[in-house]
Amino acid sequence: MMQGPGSAVSLLTALVGADVISNEPQQIARFASDHRGLYRGQALAVARPRKLAEISKILGFCNQHRLAVVPAAGNTSYCGGATPDASGTQLVVSLERMNTVRRVLPLDYCIEVEAGCILQNVQTAATAAERFFPLAIGAQGSCQIGGNLATNAGGLNVLRYGMMRDLVLGLEVVLADGRVLSHLSTLRKDNTGYDLKSLFLGSEGTLGIISAATLKLFPLPRVRATALAQVANPAAAVELLALMREASGDRVSSFELIPGVALDLVSKYMSDISAPFAVPAPWQVLVEWSSSQPREPLETALTAALQAAAERGLLQDAALAQNETQRAAFWRLRENIPTAQQRAGASLKHDISVPISQLAAFIERGAALAAQLAPEGFLVAYGHVGDGNLHFNVSQKAAADRSEFLTRAPALQRALHDCVAELGGSFSAEHGIGQLKVEELARYSAPHELELMRAVKQLLDPNGIMNPGKVLKPRG
Ligand SMILES: Cc1cc2nc3c(=O)[nH]c(=O)nc-3n(C[C@H](O)[C@H](O)[C@H](O)COP(=O)(O)OP(=O)(O)OC[C@H]3O[C@@H](n4cnc5c(N)ncnc54)[C@H](O)[C@@H]3O)c2cc1C
Repeated sequence: MMQGPGSAVSLLTALVGADVISNEPQQIARFASDHRGLYRGQALAVARPRKLAEISKILGFCNQHRLAVVPAAGNTSYCGGATPDASGTQLVVSLERMNTVRRVLPLDYCIEVEAGCILQNVQTAATAAERFFPLAIGAQGSCQIGGNLATNAGGLNVLRYGMMRDLVLGLEVVLADGRVLSHLSTLRKDNTGYDLKSLFLGSEGTLGIISAATLKLFPLPRVRATALAQVANPAAAVELLALMREASGDRVSSFELIPGVALDLVSKYMSDISAPFAVPAPWQVLVEWSSSQPREPLETALTAALQAAAERGLLQDAALAQNETQRAAFWRLRENIPTAQQRAGASLKHDISVPISQLAAFIERGAALAAQLAPEGFLVAYGHVGDGNLHFNVSQKAAADRSEFLTRAPALQRALHDCVAELGGSFSAEHGIGQLKVEELARYSAPHELELMRAVKQLLDPNGIMNPGKVLKPRG
């Protein structure tokens, strides 16, 4: 019989051990707020299981006693998905100790990993076996595979390799009632009934806890050609992308749009990073081709493609990375935009996608909306143009009042997301819903889609213990 929160902690401790359950303030504090500092919560306790059976026992107990569970991984979510509420009654479950790369199967081109593995460690394990795991995001040194699966993470190589969803062959999941769905398949083809694993990819901890996965690997890129090109405008960037895909035999692995204003921010706030151009153009693209054939003359082909693009008036200037150090320097420019933006002050972030053909139209309309609805800010729109995905952010001007600037957020978000919807796009391209975009999901989904989502939630988590308040708006 459970008397209250204190007794839940004692019972859980008796069930799985004091080494797994902790309500020490320093453990609870680690999960009290999200990466962006938008949310603050207070967990009842933190569970750090070491094996599948312990997760299963914990969820079985929580389900029986209606104790809410918040799965947490690297806590780099941009939407507050891993932050508990302030009630002090939710149990955070972190899989950080389940961080073993179980096996690499080079002939099957796959890897089996536990959900607590840091993304970068999975990339390294694949490389050690002469294989490539392509998910690459700015947070890869701290985010975990469980978080990447639960958010269906995107990042820098989606154009060529797809999102996390596309990289999964099999999953092991602990359901809300503690039962285990074990399907660590290595098969490329398997049409046996409904694809249950898909339900958990992008479910943000609301349907169960992912404990392990088998992931696709690819041939290791042996040669890369990377350039930073100054393009005439976003429409030219989109045309350049199409040209590059054709000219490279579809070897473009990344194609990132970088505005001059972002390069200025990076140079201003990171003194050790500088752009290769004396004066940044209003728009740059960072393009990378890669191939597993070590002798493939990618640089020559990329140079020729850039020249052809210049002749068509698509770009004014381009710098080709001459070695690995220069390539890394180009990527540091791109990867440090979020940090530079954070140092510049508050920002209003929008993670949107539209059909690639509509990108330029969206940037034009969105820029006008930003100027009109958030005059205390300036636009820093950058990102994964190859995927039609922009981080359409507005940064606070140095002289602007922070709180006044932040009051602009709701009206600007509404106008931008309505514009995205009109153009056939999505208000959440790769960051998920978390608690930040619950209202947006309710607003932009068709009623029958929402009903289906609720039906899936009800089926898999009838007591509503899994990450309540995230993704789906509570019925009110
Ligand atoms: C600098 C920076 C750059 C970023 N760049 C990108 C980018 O390019 N592309 C991109 O997509 N994202 C990006 N992100 C966002 C973030 O890194 C991703 O969403 C990432 O996948 C979250 O992983 P995490 O381990 O930090 O998960 P957390 O933040 O800990 O959790 C995220 C969600 O997953 C759930 N969850 C965690 N573990 C499990 C599990 N085992 N089972 C079930 N549910 C679970 C949580 O409850 C939560 O809802 C970036 C973030 C930062 C800080």
